Amino acid sequence: QKRDDDSHYFDSYGENDIHAVMLQDKVRTASYAQFILSNPSLFTDATVLDVGCGTSILSLFAARAGAKRVFAVDASAGIVSRAKQIVKANGLEGVITVIEGKVEEIELPTKVDVIISEWMGYALLYESMLDSVLVARDRFLTPTGVVAPSQARMMLALADPLETRKERVDFWDDVYGFDLSAMKDAVWADSIVDVIPPSAVLSRPVCVRDIYIPEVTPAQLSFSTHFELVSTADRRRKVTAFVLYFDTFFFPGQGKVDPETEVKVVREGDALLAEVWPLGAGVGRPVPTRRASSKSGGGVLSPNPEEGMRAPSITSFSTGPESVPTHWKQTVFLLREPVVVVEGTKISGTFHCIKSSTNSRELDVEIHYAVHAEGEDGGKKGETLVQM
Ligand code: SAH
Repeated sequence: QKRDDDSHYFDSYGENDIHAVMLQDKVRTASYAQFILSNPSLFTDATVLDVGCGTSILSLFAARAGAKRVFAVDASAGIVSRAKQIVKANGLEGVITVIEGKVEEIELPTKVDVIISEWMGYALLYESMLDSVLVARDRFLTPTGVVAPSQARMMLALADPLETRKERVDFWDDVYGFDLSAMKDAVWADSIVDVIPPSAVLSRPVCVRDIYIPEVTPAQLSFSTHFELVSTADRRRKVTAFVLYFDTFFFPGQGKVDPETEVKVVREGDALLAEVWPLGAGVGRPVPTRRASSKSGGGVLSPNPEEGMRAPSITSFSTGPESVPTHWKQTVFLLREPVVVVEGTKISGTFHCIKSSTNSRELDVEIHYAVHAEGEDGGKKGETLVQM
């Protein structure tokens, strides 16, 4: 990694605002709290490493859950000094040790039973922080240790995000009565981080990358995947974008979810519920196969409801358009040329996600696609190349 990419990156985490945004994201923070506090068998008397502790919030949860020792590591000088104050103010210096440094470079006196980290960036891999978690895993985790979260999936779907288009594209056509449409050229080269409504989604999602964190290698984080998306539009509609987001899963032990499942977080009163559906269940979906609630936010999913209490519960959240919005929103790739679809129109292609050669924390995303349909769009091809 280049020095400059890093120093800018860690400086940005020295600011208060970014931590406020993360802590106030209830889906995010409550899911971690829920996982940590509802798995006493994992955390009681455990040695824990918090990779990128920020304010130390995850370490505080781990201490509350009965951890024997917590190492809270962060390379942002600005936030580390706060974390030290915070640990002291909460009387937890005896449990939590705050360490300033990159997790790649620090030393620990022992191996750890659990690694907790909130490393996810826009579209999952933006920031490339997962690489650091993998280094921590290989350096410090015991062979039977647990990484939380333990699974994350990048999901792709077809969409027509009207509001996003209005604000980012059509806007330039008439600015105080002037034609500024020359500005539109730059729009297609960038991805857009925005919340899009469920009504804008025009297909079931497909998983373009399923990352099992106990086993994944850094090389596998740059990849190309073939995908096939099928329109669920109930009438002629225009696909004007691909939408990308991620789902995350926390397992207290070994285990992962079936690739053919879909997560959705819904609000029910004060509580957030996570539901897991069979992927592609389609319109008029059946009742969720697994469903449970949590007052604190985030949901518990019982992978085997029939087995009742014996089944290990897992925590999960989604950042998709069908779920309660998070600070990650969704990542939208607008198409220069929209594609007309009807129900059943297939769009297939290749999704590439590669670390940018100019900034190791940025991504080059390319989506090459072809439309398979009867009628006017038959055989239409396109591509969208974006650096984010
Ligand atoms: N865990 C906190 C903060 C998450 S943000 C919370 O959940 O609120 C990610 C944090 O990881 C940032 O503070 C950043 O400075 C830190 N970080 C990223 N890469 C790191 C690395 N390689 N070593 C140490 N800290 C890192």
